[in-house]
Amino acid sequence: MMNGTSAGRRSLSQRISGQYTLYLVRSMAVTLAVFTLVYWFAVIVRASGVCGRALSEMSGGQWQQGSYLVGESGVSRLADDAWRPGVLPQKVDGQLCLVRGEGGYTVVFTLSGYASLFVVLLLTLALAELIRLRVLRQSADRISRRALSPISDIVTAARGLSASNLSARISADGAKDELLELTEVLNGMLDRIESAYNNQKQFVSDASHELRTPIAVIQGYADMLGRWGKSDPEVRDEAIAAISGETRAMKDLVEQLLFIARHENSPQRYQKEFFDLKELADEALRDTKLIAGERKVIAGPIESAIVRGDKNALKQALRVFLDNALKYTASDGEITLSCVKEKGWARLTVQDNGIGIAEEDLQRVFDRFYRAANVRGSEVDGHGLGLAIARMIVLAHGGRIEVQSKPGAGSRFHILLKL
Ligand code: ADP
Repeated sequence: MMNGTSAGRRSLSQRISGQYTLYLVRSMAVTLAVFTLVYWFAVIVRASGVCGRALSEMSGGQWQQGSYLVGESGVSRLADDAWRPGVLPQKVDGQLCLVRGEGGYTVVFTLSGYASLFVVLLLTLALAELIRLRVLRQSADRISRRALSPISDIVTAARGLSASNLSARISADGAKDELLELTEVLNGMLDRIESAYNNQKQFVSDASHELRTPIAVIQGYADMLGRWGKSDPEVRDEAIAAISGETRAMKDLVEQLLFIARHENSPQRYQKEFFDLKELADEALRDTKLIAGERKVIAGPIESAIVRGDKNALKQALRVFLDNALKYTASDGEITLSCVKEKGWARLTVQDNGIGIAEEDLQRVFDRFYRAANVRGSEVDGHGLGLAIARMIVLAHGGRIEVQSKPGAGSRFHILLKL
């Protein structure tokens, strides 16, 4: 059964074969036309040769009035009644007949012999051309089918692809040159699609996993409320506080997930304008001081630096580093924020003297849902999404992030943006 797209449509090999046949028919027509021209040109040359000889013989003046046959073998006189106007002497066919009358000579050159020879030759040639056309067409069909067979493989492989089977690849067997290149390009594209699809799947599964814990906690406290909450005010208050805390954490997580889902690969979502990073750093410092508790929040050198970007998004990124600095630094620790200009770049630096990050974790802390070993299972809340979001924002602004950290000594995160 043919599917909707291929029904009624000629295949590529059929079209190539059609075009080739057209080309062969054209070349056959040209061959026959050239043969016709050459044949009749040769006949004319021959006729004019015979004429020339006859005329040179006539110029001697020895000819009497009458009919003469001028042929290859010479000139012979015909019987007087051999020619009348409109009736040719029998032997004249294919030869020159000169008739000397009162007013001069009549030259008759009949062609029926040449014409019938021409017809025989033309038919033979046409037949030979038809046989040639058929043979060439058959081999052209074979060659084009063989050359295009990798395309059929590509179509079959593409039909076999589905979301549940993205691992299938197109076989490059038999493909050469451009088709081999096409196969490789398509397989490369499939690799990228599969990897993007697997990333998405992983993201959804990690997100669901992260949401499962707070939901389970809320459910546990709701059950507790139902059982003892009415009679025990202490249980009730504890459950309400826990449910409210978990709900807030869940809301933050959902917002982070939504941000990633919306902003990934969508640079148009950022509303960029020119602004001074100093303003952003001052605002962020003020906000951080409000929630820093006993930790010291220090302003380093804060220079004015005009950059182009989405101020809110960049503030969100800076907030990630500041919040982490607070989260992963002891209550008597110090956090410093600075903003300086250097060689065409603005450098925002958040430095803390907190727990630091081990070398092996440093490579991965920007991965989604990744948390370093020294914080996993600790009291410090987190889902491992903040740095991934910050990196997404900074990269979308053509910037970059640098990090230096030492366990036990602290960390330094830098955001670099083009001036
Ligand atoms: P979260 O803080 O919610 O776990 P992030 O993506 O913001 O997620 O950070 C990823 C991980 O990087 C953290 O879990 C932590 O292990 C490490 N990290 C980030 N910032 C700091 C910091 N200032 N000091 C120590 N570790 C940090």
